[in-house]
Amino acid sequence: MVRFPARFLMVLAANPCPCGRFSLRDSLCECPPSAIRRYQSRLSGPLLDRVDLRVEVDPVTRAQLTEPGARGESTATVADRVRQARARAAARLTGTPWRTNSEVPGRELRSRYQAVAGAMDEAERNLERGVLTARGIDRVLRVAWTVADLVGHDRPDATDVALALQLRTGVPRGVPMAIGALT
Ligand SMILES: [Zn+2]
Repeated sequence: MVRFPARFLMVLAANPCPCGRFSLRDSLCECPPSAIRRYQSRLSGPLLDRVDLRVEVDPVTRAQLTEPGARGESTATVADRVRQARARAAARLTGTPWRTNSEVPGRELRSRYQAVAGAMDEAERNLERGVLTARGIDRVLRVAWTVADLVGHDRPDATDVALALQLRTGVPRGVPMAIGALT
């Protein structure tokens, strides 16, 4: 057996279509649907199945670039929230070999770290419909735990799972995407 000392965070960025202007909201793209499908299929399913968070990023307008003053939350505010979330996870995982949600194996998540009763129903339906894989559903639960840690819930509820599901599938589910809006 070969063991690689690799604990890494994979971040991918891709255009949605050949022209780069396709959007689920107001699309300026004129690429034929077949071209979009061909373009998107260059990222394989098994690779995408390992990506937990998918976020559509709007193009930046000229006005946003030139607007004076910072927009949104400061890095310090977000960093502070992340520190608190990690502390919550570490406290919960005391006595286990893990410190963060990302390290907890799927079978442990399913047995010892379940969401609030009924919270995973929609995710289960997505699994049955083939929208999610078995790996995908574990990852939704894992991300839901991180959402719960970020917003200060003791256990992921239906809203936390809905956000995790939205982040995984890229399909809007009526949940604010910014954690700051949830706290
Ligand atoms: Zn296009």
